[in-house]
Formats: sequence, C-alpha cells, structure tokens
Amino acid sequence: MKHLEEKILKEGLVLSDQVLKVDSFLNHQIDPFLVKEMGEEFAKRFQNESITKVLTLESSGIAPAVMTALELKVPAIFARKNKSLTLSENVYLSEVYSFTKREKSTIYVSKKYLNESDRVLIIDDFLANGQAACALLDIVKQAGAHLVGIGIVIEKAFQNGGSLLRKQNIRVESLVRIQSLENGKVRFHEEALL
Ligand code: 5GP
Repeated sequence: MKHLEEKILKEGLVLSDQVLKVDSFLNHQIDPFLVKEMGEEFAKRFQNESITKVLTLESSGIAPAVMTALELKVPAIFARKNKSLTLSENVYLSEVYSFTKREKSTIYVSKKYLNESDRVLIIDDFLANGQAACALLDIVKQAGAHLVGIGIVIEKAFQNGGSLLRKQNIRVESLVRIQSLENGKVRFHEEALL
C-alpha cells in the first residue's frame, strides 16, 4: 500500500531498532481516509473467503478492523483487555504478553458473538512477535470457528511473528512489511515495494 508507506516515511517515529510510533494516523489520532483504504485492501485480499466476523484486539486494531468489516459487510468484534462488569461469565479468554507495554494481560470475547459457524478474519495494527495474534487465534480455536487468515497493517518482518504464524500454514497478509528500523530509519521489505 503505497499511501501507507509514504505516511510511515513522513510521520512515523522510530523509537528504537524495534519500535515504530505511528500515533499521528493509527495509534492515537486516526486518519479515517487512510484507515478506510486499509479496510478496502484487506477486504479485497480476502473477498472470496465468505468471512462472517472480523476479530481484533482493543484498542489499536479496532479502526482497521471496523473498516474491513464495513467493506465485507460483517460485524467486527474486539477482544477486551479488561473484563467489564457487563461482560458475563460466558466468555472465551486467553493470555497475551504485550510487546509495547511489557506486561501480561487476559483478553476476553463473549461466547455470544463467536461460534463454530463463523469464518474469521483476524486484523491487527502491528505484528511483532505474534503474541497478540496467537491469543486471538486461541480464542478462534476455543470457539470452534474457522480461521480464514490474518490481516496486519504493519508487519515488522525482522521479528519472528510472521514466520511463527506462516509456519502453521496460516495466511498472513500485511499491508506493509518493514525490514529494519536500524539507525532511526524505516526500511521496507522489497516485496512490499513492488
Ligand atoms: P506482538 O504481539 O506481535 O508481539 O505485538 C503486536 C502488538 O504489539 C500490536 O497489537 C501492537 O499494539 C503492539 N506493537 C508491536 N510492535 C509495535 C510497534 O513497533 N509500534 C507500535 N505502535 N505498536 C507495536
């Protein structure tokens, strides 16, 4: 996605060799036009998969997940990180270790919204070591639903999440793949530049 690459080069802040900050258009302020384009692209890539639900993790995955769900004309579900009083006992839960916050948390999805008849597309903002994706995958498995694939806005290809998931024959589609953040500079994976 050329627009996304340009936006990252223009506004992304390289915080370290491992972390990219994109608060100006995805993780704090949201650029609705760019995120809508992300949704259109994910929907196009997975259009023949008869998806029934888009699943993400709060909060940064919600915007691209909703835009994708809108295009696919299906509901979006976000796994919650805190069990709210309104979320009943009837939940799937899984553990996730946060790459950016360096802490473990439990995520929850109500059983009401996911079951064995669903064909699920997981969407997330970043793929680093694959912990968030694996926790969502675990929830899809608990529901007995079918995982169609995973759509990632920004994959950091130098971390091992992508290979961890693809090794399990999971279809992972990333809108951009970053090869390195070394020396404060974003370098994209060549494939993504085609
Ligand atoms: P993983 O679970 O794959 O190790 O990390 C993915 C999650 O951590 C994403 O949901 C995202 O919120 C966060 N994350 C990982 N790497 C980055 C990064 O470089 N920048 C930002 N802003 N978030 C990241």
